[in-house]
Amino acid sequence: MLSDSVLGIIGGGQLGRMLAMEARRMNIRTVVWTGGLESPAREIADDVVDLPFDDPLGLEEFCKKATVATVEFENIPADVLESVDQRISLNPSPKAVSICQNRLREKQFLGEAEIPCTPYALVESATDLELAIKSLGEGVLKTADFGYDGHGQIRIRGGEDAQVVWDAFESDKAVYEQWVPFEKEVSVMVARGADGEMVSYDVSENGHRNHILDVSAVPAQVDDSVAAKARDLAGQIADALDYCGIMGVEFFVKPGGELLVNEMAPRPHNSGHYTMDACETSQFEQQLRAVMGLPLGSTKLLSPVVMLNLLGDMWLDAATAPDWSPLFADGSASLHLYGKAQAKGRRKMGHANFLGASVDDAMQRALVLKDAWLKSEV
Ligand code: AMP
Repeated sequence: MLSDSVLGIIGGGQLGRMLAMEARRMNIRTVVWTGGLESPAREIADDVVDLPFDDPLGLEEFCKKATVATVEFENIPADVLESVDQRISLNPSPKAVSICQNRLREKQFLGEAEIPCTPYALVESATDLELAIKSLGEGVLKTADFGYDGHGQIRIRGGEDAQVVWDAFESDKAVYEQWVPFEKEVSVMVARGADGEMVSYDVSENGHRNHILDVSAVPAQVDDSVAAKARDLAGQIADALDYCGIMGVEFFVKPGGELLVNEMAPRPHNSGHYTMDACETSQFEQQLRAVMGLPLGSTKLLSPVVMLNLLGDMWLDAATAPDWSPLFADGSASLHLYGKAQAKGRRKMGHANFLGASVDDAMQRALVLKDAWLKSEV
């Protein structure tokens, strides 16, 4: 019975906040485990466990309060995920999360599943790095664990001293990825129930600013065959992981349409925020349906849409948001703010979804507002 269940959400960020909001709407109770970190989700959840993820008391309290659990953040120690799963069921599974939280495990998994990904080499020393650069050419050195939004990455263009780069690198286990001259970056949200039922959403075309997602446009302007292939590959990944829940799969599209998986996220994803206003079922409701054992909802796209991320550099100062009035005047745009008190340059403060007659129409309106907000001053 839904009314007897309490959904435990590991992680207290904006994804947890939006998941808890959907849960509120459906009268599903939630408890958020913040890890002791600042948490946009805490004010929405029914209950909060405010202890670090490696604190046994945190685990104890969380498992007592929740009857079923999910993650909104993948960088949780694997033994903690295992312990939660032994006490109450965790979906996606600890195995799926631990594969997605480490670039090396992710690439090994993709290799075994015969899903194309960026050519790479394991790097654990300056010599490894030197050999990797020699064999793969231009590329990016990425920390194996706990990387996000371009953190823990060094771009290698050739001519660098491997020893100097490795000495300055903040991690002792990394992957060296070949540089992919991609035409576009796209992503797919796929949801899978415990019974294997699976649905995917329209492909999103993503643009980045300073390594952080800036805009997502849906449907992606790619050939139908490329979009179908991306959805098919995302489904193959979910099946191979025996996945339960929603996941985001990011791809590079090479000239000619070849797809390479860049990353997998075992949770709702920033590039899936468009579903909140443009689809019959949002990614957050879908996550609830999957982990609560309900039938999955329709992923139908109701309108072309552009999602614009609202980063801290649009704020007038740490506490002053830009003027939202042009967004409200637009009439077909909606504002989602995460309730973060302090704005900082790269921080995700919120997002806006622009529905349009076409992607071009929505994009044009979104970019006008983005430029105005980036230029605005007190
Ligand atoms: P990541 O954190 O791995 O998703 O990387 C952040 C962004 O850096 C990606 O969305 C790409 O725009 C760029 N990037 C990362 N890896 C590569 C690569 N191997 N080749 C080309 N661009 C990359």
